Amino acid sequence: MCDVDASRAASGDVGSSVTWVEHTVSAASGMAWRVPTGGFLRITDVEGGQTGDLFLVDAVDRSDGLSNGRSFDYNSSVLMSVGSKLYSSRSNVLATIISDDVGRHDFLYTPCSQEMYEIQHGAIGPHPNCYDNLTTALAGYSVPASTVTVALNVFMVASIADDGGLVVHPTRSIKGDSIVLRVERDVLAAVTSCPAAGCNRGATRPLLVSIGLTGPDVDRPSGP
Ligand SMILES: [Zn+2]
Repeated sequence: MCDVDASRAASGDVGSSVTWVEHTVSAASGMAWRVPTGGFLRITDVEGGQTGDLFLVDAVDRSDGLSNGRSFDYNSSVLMSVGSKLYSSRSNVLATIISDDVGRHDFLYTPCSQEMYEIQHGAIGPHPNCYDNLTTALAGYSVPASTVTVALNVFMVASIADDGGLVVHPTRSIKGDSIVLRVERDVLAAVTSCPAAGCNRGATRPLLVSIGLTGPDVDRPSGP
């Protein structure tokens, strides 16, 4: 547990009474936490060049997870940044982005999966992947794998060509860049460090996830 980081607090407008708990998500792995309404979630690219997947689930209705389609609809955009609200499949607001150093995240691609590495990259044998990392981390909170659909691919850059072609580009994230979300509903939040070399400038690195809590929530456990 650590005191609030003044510089980041300023960029994220979280106020001065927030206590941050930091967690390192190792390269190519995933973790999950319970975050209460009014809490904050900050994802930091500690080394630069690293993307990750963020998936949110309603902590009460664990069949209701993050929806890219609902979020596109209600934000009238496929690009999420400061002010964007992230919606669930049942149209509940799960979180709002309040600070964003990079300003570009993908919300089109599904989490990378074992099948993706086999189909698109010819992988033979088990390959680390975000889908398994998300579902495994959330299973610790009794979230069924079927709830996990399209994650917000933080720091990942993808573009749509005029002919509809979808192209992945290297991330623009540099060392220390972060995105901060305010949680609008009690959620279970899972974050991965993506092992797909193509969007991570050729390597896989850890991400730092900081959970910001206020008031009595500070003393409540965030684990299962
Ligand atoms: Zn991935």
